[in-house]
Amino acid sequence: FSSCLAESATQKLEDVYKYWSNKFLSHNIEEADISANYIVAHVLGHKTIYNLDAQTLLNQTQVDKINELCHLRSTGMPVQYVLGEWDFLDLTLIMRPPVLIPRPETEELALLCIETLVNDIEIERPTVLEIGCGSGALSLSLLKKCPKLQVVAVDISPTACSLTQENAQLLGLMDRICVIQGDFTLNKVQLELSRLSAFPLIVSNPPYLTTDELTGLQSEIECFEDPTALDGGLDGLDIIKEIILKAPDLLMTNGHLWMEVSHQQPPLIAKLVQNSHNDICLIEVVKDLFGKDRFCHFQKK
Ligand code: GLN
Repeated sequence: FSSCLAESATQKLEDVYKYWSNKFLSHNIEEADISANYIVAHVLGHKTIYNLDAQTLLNQTQVDKINELCHLRSTGMPVQYVLGEWDFLDLTLIMRPPVLIPRPETEELALLCIETLVNDIEIERPTVLEIGCGSGALSLSLLKKCPKLQVVAVDISPTACSLTQENAQLLGLMDRICVIQGDFTLNKVQLELSRLSAFPLIVSNPPYLTTDELTGLQSEIECFEDPTALDGGLDGLDIIKEIILKAPDLLMTNGHLWMEVSHQQPPLIAKLVQNSHNDICLIEVVKDLFGKDRFCHFQKK
Protein backbone atom coordinates (compact mmCIF):
# COMPACT_ATOMS: atom_id res chain seq x y z
CA PHE A 1 0.00 0.00 0.00
CA SER A 2 3.02 2.24 0.23
CA SER A 3 2.27 3.74 -3.17
CA CYS A 4 -0.99 5.20 -1.89
CA LEU A 5 0.69 6.95 1.03
CA ALA A 6 0.98 10.63 0.30
CA GLU A 7 4.06 12.27 1.67
CA SER A 8 3.59 14.53 4.63
CA ALA A 9 2.94 18.04 3.37
CA THR A 10 4.20 19.82 6.45
CA GLN A 11 7.69 20.23 7.82
CA LYS A 12 6.99 20.59 11.53
CA LEU A 13 8.37 17.70 13.61
CA GLU A 14 5.12 17.22 15.47
CA ASP A 15 3.09 17.08 12.26
CA VAL A 16 5.44 14.74 10.40
CA TYR A 17 5.42 12.41 13.40
CA LYS A 18 1.62 12.51 13.73
CA TYR A 19 1.13 12.02 10.00
CA TRP A 20 3.17 8.83 9.96
CA SER A 21 1.98 7.39 13.23
CA ASN A 22 -1.61 7.81 12.00
CA LYS A 23 -0.75 6.24 8.64
CA PHE A 24 0.88 3.29 10.38
CA LEU A 25 -2.08 2.94 12.70
CA SER A 26 -4.67 3.03 9.92
CA HIS A 27 -2.72 0.40 8.00
CA ASN A 28 -2.37 -1.90 11.03
CA ILE A 29 1.38 -1.53 11.28
CA GLU A 30 2.45 -2.81 14.70
CA GLU A 31 3.62 -0.28 17.29
CA ALA A 32 2.60 2.63 15.07
CA ASP A 33 3.51 5.48 17.43
CA ILE A 34 6.84 4.16 18.56
CA SER A 35 7.83 3.29 14.99
CA ALA A 36 7.17 6.84 13.79
CA ASN A 37 8.94 8.17 16.88
CA TYR A 38 12.09 6.07 16.28
CA ILE A 39 12.26 6.93 12.58
CA VAL A 40 11.81 10.70 13.00
CA ALA A 41 14.28 10.77 15.90
CA HIS A 42 16.81 8.63 13.99
CA VAL A 43 16.86 10.97 11.00
CA LEU A 44 17.47 13.89 13.39
CA GLY A 45 20.33 12.02 15.09
CA HIS A 46 18.42 11.12 18.26
CA LYS A 47 16.98 7.97 19.88
CA THR A 48 13.54 9.39 20.67
CA ILE A 49 11.60 12.56 19.85
CA TYR A 50 10.60 13.05 23.48
CA ASN A 51 13.67 15.21 24.07
CA LEU A 52 13.10 17.30 20.96
CA ASP A 53 10.99 20.39 20.51
CA ALA A 54 7.74 19.40 18.78
CA GLN A 55 7.76 22.72 16.90
CA THR A 56 11.17 22.11 15.28
CA LEU A 57 11.08 22.81 11.56
CA LEU A 58 12.63 20.04 9.48
CA ASN A 59 14.45 20.71 6.24
CA GLN A 60 13.46 18.99 3.00
CA THR A 61 16.33 16.48 3.13
CA GLN A 62 15.21 15.35 6.59
CA VAL A 63 11.58 15.09 5.54
CA ASP A 64 12.55 13.12 2.42
CA LYS A 65 14.62 10.69 4.50
CA ILE A 66 11.82 10.26 7.04
CA ASN A 67 9.34 9.59 4.24
CA GLU A 68 11.70 7.05 2.66
CA LEU A 69 12.18 5.13 5.92
CA CYS A 70 8.50 5.31 6.80
CA HIS A 71 7.59 3.86 3.42
CA LEU A 72 9.88 0.93 4.24
CA ARG A 73 8.23 0.54 7.64
CA SER A 74 4.86 0.55 5.84
CA THR A 75 5.85 -2.67 4.10
CA GLY A 76 5.94 -4.30 7.55
CA MET A 77 9.73 -4.28 7.74
CA PRO A 78 10.71 -4.22 11.44
CA VAL A 79 11.81 -0.79 12.60
CA GLN A 80 15.19 -2.23 13.63
CA TYR A 81 15.92 -3.14 10.00
CA VAL A 82 14.50 0.15 8.75
CA LEU A 83 16.87 2.11 11.01
CA GLY A 84 19.72 -0.29 10.23
CA GLU A 85 20.77 -0.23 13.86
CA TRP A 86 19.50 -1.20 17.28
CA ASP A 87 20.66 -0.89 20.87
CA PHE A 88 21.57 -3.91 22.96
CA LEU A 89 22.51 -2.96 26.53
CA ASP A 90 24.93 -0.07 26.02
CA LEU A 91 25.96 -1.06 22.49
CA THR A 92 24.53 0.21 19.23
CA LEU A 93 24.66 -2.62 16.71
CA ILE A 94 24.18 -2.66 12.96
CA MET A 95 21.00 -4.58 12.03
CA ARG A 96 20.41 -6.10 8.64
CA PRO A 97 17.76 -8.54 7.39
CA PRO A 98 17.47 -11.45 7.84
CA VAL A 99 19.76 -11.64 10.88
CA LEU A 100 17.81 -12.11 14.14
CA ILE A 101 16.98 -8.85 15.92
CA PRO A 102 18.10 -9.16 19.56
CA ARG A 103 15.17 -9.18 22.01
CA PRO A 104 15.13 -7.42 25.41
CA GLU A 105 15.16 -10.82 27.20
CA THR A 106 18.51 -11.59 25.65
CA GLU A 107 20.01 -8.52 27.33
CA GLU A 108 19.26 -10.30 30.62
CA LEU A 109 21.10 -13.38 29.37
CA ALA A 110 24.14 -11.20 28.69
CA LEU A 111 23.96 -9.81 32.24
CA LEU A 112 23.68 -13.33 33.73
CA CYS A 113 26.78 -14.40 31.80
CA ILE A 114 28.70 -11.33 32.94
CA GLU A 115 27.76 -12.18 36.54
CA THR A 116 29.05 -15.72 36.07
CA LEU A 117 32.26 -14.47 34.48
CA VAL A 118 32.89 -11.98 37.26
CA ASN A 119 31.87 -14.13 40.25
CA ASP A 120 32.37 -17.79 39.34
CA ILE A 121 35.21 -18.02 36.85
CA GLU A 122 38.70 -17.58 38.20
CA ILE A 123 40.67 -17.66 34.99
CA GLU A 124 42.95 -14.78 34.07
CA ARG A 125 42.07 -14.77 30.35
CA PRO A 126 38.91 -16.82 29.75
CA THR A 127 37.55 -17.71 26.33
CA VAL A 128 33.78 -17.93 25.93
CA LEU A 129 32.03 -19.88 23.21
CA GLU A 130 28.81 -18.51 21.74
CA ILE A 131 26.68 -20.90 19.69
CA GLY A 132 24.53 -18.98 17.17
CA CYS A 133 25.92 -15.45 17.38
CA GLY A 134 23.50 -13.68 14.97
CA SER A 135 24.36 -9.98 15.01
CA GLY A 136 26.98 -10.56 17.72
CA ALA A 137 24.91 -8.92 20.46
CA LEU A 138 25.73 -11.41 23.25
CA SER A 139 29.40 -11.94 22.42
CA LEU A 140 30.14 -8.27 21.91
CA SER A 141 28.42 -7.15 25.10
CA LEU A 142 30.47 -9.70 27.09
CA LEU A 143 33.68 -8.50 25.42
CA LYS A 144 32.77 -4.90 26.13
CA LYS A 145 32.19 -5.58 29.85
CA CYS A 146 35.14 -7.96 30.39
CA PRO A 147 38.41 -6.50 29.06
CA LYS A 148 40.41 -9.75 29.39
CA LEU A 149 37.84 -11.94 27.70
CA GLN A 150 38.14 -13.60 24.30
CA VAL A 151 35.21 -15.06 22.38
CA VAL A 152 34.77 -17.78 19.81
CA ALA A 153 31.44 -17.20 18.05
CA VAL A 154 29.89 -19.71 15.69
CA ASP A 155 26.86 -19.34 13.42
CA ILE A 156 25.48 -21.43 10.58
CA SER A 157 24.57 -18.31 8.59
CA PRO A 158 27.30 -16.54 6.60
CA THR A 159 25.25 -13.32 6.73
CA ALA A 160 25.13 -13.50 10.52
CA CYS A 161 28.88 -14.16 10.71
CA SER A 162 29.67 -11.11 8.55
CA LEU A 163 27.34 -8.95 10.62
CA THR A 164 29.00 -10.08 13.87
CA GLN A 165 32.35 -9.20 12.34
CA GLU A 166 31.11 -5.82 11.13
CA ASN A 167 29.72 -5.04 14.58
CA ALA A 168 32.97 -6.17 16.21
CA GLN A 169 34.88 -3.86 13.90
CA LEU A 170 32.55 -0.96 14.64
CA LEU A 171 33.08 -1.45 18.38
CA GLY A 172 36.83 -2.02 18.14
CA LEU A 173 36.53 -5.58 19.46
CA MET A 174 37.87 -7.45 16.40
CA ASP A 175 41.09 -8.54 18.09
CA ARG A 176 39.24 -10.52 20.81
CA ILE A 177 36.66 -12.37 18.73
CA CYS A 178 37.03 -15.29 16.37
CA VAL A 179 33.94 -15.86 14.22
CA ILE A 180 33.46 -19.30 12.72
CA GLN A 181 30.85 -20.00 10.06
CA GLY A 182 29.60 -23.54 10.46
CA ASP A 183 26.78 -25.85 11.48
CA PHE A 184 27.21 -26.62 15.18
CA THR A 185 25.35 -29.91 14.79
CA LEU A 186 28.13 -31.27 12.57
CA ASN A 187 30.88 -33.34 14.18
CA LYS A 188 33.61 -31.62 12.25
CA VAL A 189 32.55 -28.20 13.57
CA GLN A 190 32.36 -29.52 17.15
CA LEU A 191 35.81 -31.04 16.74
CA GLU A 192 37.21 -27.77 15.42
CA LEU A 193 35.74 -25.94 18.43
CA SER A 194 37.02 -28.49 20.94
CA ARG A 195 40.53 -28.06 19.54
CA LEU A 196 40.41 -24.30 20.16
CA SER A 197 39.90 -24.43 23.90
CA ALA A 198 38.15 -26.07 26.86
CA PHE A 199 35.69 -23.28 27.54
CA PRO A 200 34.82 -22.01 31.03
CA LEU A 201 31.53 -20.63 29.66
CA ILE A 202 29.27 -21.41 26.73
CA VAL A 203 26.34 -19.15 25.93
CA SER A 204 23.56 -19.61 23.43
CA ASN A 205 20.25 -18.14 22.36
CA PRO A 206 19.44 -21.04 20.05
CA PRO A 207 16.38 -21.41 17.81
CA TYR A 208 13.80 -22.74 20.25
CA LEU A 209 10.34 -22.13 18.77
CA THR A 210 8.47 -25.20 17.56
CA THR A 211 7.91 -25.24 13.81
CA ASP A 212 4.16 -24.88 14.49
CA GLU A 213 4.68 -21.88 16.76
CA LEU A 214 6.81 -20.22 14.12
CA THR A 215 4.31 -20.84 11.33
CA GLY A 216 1.51 -19.55 13.58
CA LEU A 217 3.32 -16.31 14.40
CA GLN A 218 1.69 -13.49 12.50
CA SER A 219 3.87 -10.76 13.87
CA GLU A 220 5.95 -8.74 11.42
CA ILE A 221 9.30 -9.37 12.95
CA GLU A 222 9.50 -13.12 12.40
CA CYS A 223 8.37 -12.72 8.76
CA PHE A 224 11.55 -10.82 8.00
CA GLU A 225 13.96 -12.87 10.11
CA ASP A 226 15.87 -15.95 9.02
CA PRO A 227 13.71 -18.91 10.18
CA THR A 228 16.92 -20.86 10.85
CA ALA A 229 17.50 -18.56 13.83
CA LEU A 230 14.05 -19.30 15.28
CA ASP A 231 12.93 -22.78 14.23
CA GLY A 232 13.88 -25.44 16.77
CA GLY A 233 12.09 -28.26 14.95
CA LEU A 234 8.95 -30.22 15.89
CA ASP A 235 9.38 -29.79 19.66
CA GLY A 236 11.60 -26.71 19.49
CA LEU A 237 14.39 -28.69 21.12
CA ASP A 238 16.50 -29.81 18.13
CA ILE A 239 19.43 -27.47 18.69
CA ILE A 240 19.01 -27.36 22.49
CA LYS A 241 19.40 -31.18 22.63
CA GLU A 242 22.52 -30.98 20.51
CA ILE A 243 24.04 -28.30 22.74
CA ILE A 244 23.28 -30.25 25.93
CA LEU A 245 24.75 -33.39 24.40
CA LYS A 246 27.94 -31.75 23.15
CA ALA A 247 28.60 -29.12 25.84
CA PRO A 248 30.42 -31.55 28.19
CA ASP A 249 33.07 -32.15 25.49
CA LEU A 250 33.59 -28.42 25.03
CA LEU A 251 33.49 -27.20 28.64
CA MET A 252 36.26 -27.41 31.20
CA THR A 253 35.50 -29.08 34.54
CA ASN A 254 33.03 -26.87 36.48
CA GLY A 255 32.45 -24.88 33.27
CA HIS A 256 29.12 -23.08 32.81
CA LEU A 257 26.49 -23.16 30.10
CA TRP A 258 23.81 -20.44 29.88
CA MET A 259 21.00 -20.89 27.39
CA GLU A 260 17.86 -18.92 26.52
CA VAL A 261 14.89 -21.23 25.99
CA SER A 262 11.13 -21.16 25.52
CA HIS A 263 9.24 -20.79 28.81
CA GLN A 264 7.59 -24.24 28.48
CA GLN A 265 10.90 -26.01 27.95
CA PRO A 266 12.74 -26.07 31.33
CA PRO A 267 10.92 -29.18 32.69
CA LEU A 268 11.61 -31.04 29.43
CA ILE A 269 15.21 -29.89 29.50
CA ALA A 270 15.62 -31.08 33.11
CA LYS A 271 14.45 -34.55 31.99
CA LEU A 272 16.72 -34.49 28.96
CA VAL A 273 19.74 -33.72 31.14
CA GLN A 274 18.81 -36.48 33.58
CA ASN A 275 18.35 -39.05 30.85
CA SER A 276 21.50 -38.12 28.97
CA HIS A 277 23.66 -39.36 31.90
CA ASN A 278 26.45 -37.07 30.80
CA ASP A 279 28.58 -34.80 32.95
CA ILE A 280 26.26 -31.83 32.99
CA CYS A 281 23.67 -30.59 35.54
CA LEU A 282 20.89 -28.03 35.25
CA ILE A 283 21.64 -25.87 38.28
CA GLU A 284 19.04 -23.10 37.96
CA VAL A 285 16.28 -21.67 35.80
CA VAL A 286 16.00 -17.88 35.85
CA LYS A 287 12.88 -15.91 34.89
CA ASP A 288 12.93 -13.12 32.32
CA LEU A 289 11.62 -9.56 32.79
CA PHE A 290 8.14 -10.79 31.90
CA GLY A 291 8.22 -13.35 34.74
CA LYS A 292 8.63 -16.36 32.43
CA ASP A 293 11.12 -19.19 32.93
CA ARG A 294 13.64 -18.28 30.27
CA PHE A 295 17.28 -18.93 31.11
CA CYS A 296 18.79 -22.34 31.91
CA HIS A 297 22.09 -22.44 33.75
CA PHE A 298 24.05 -25.69 33.55
CA GLN A 299 27.37 -26.68 35.00
CA LYS A 300 29.76 -29.43 34.06
CA LYS A 301 30.62 -31.83 36.89
N1 GLN B 1 12.16 -15.02 21.52
C1 GLN B 1 12.15 -15.20 20.12
C2 GLN B 1 10.74 -15.04 19.55
O1 GLN B 1 9.81 -15.33 20.22
C3 GLN B 1 12.72 -16.55 19.75
C4 GLN B 1 14.18 -16.48 19.82
C5 GLN B 1 14.80 -17.79 19.56
O2 GLN B 1 14.22 -18.73 19.00
N2 GLN B 1 16.00 -17.90 19.98
O3 GLN B 1 10.60 -14.62 18.43
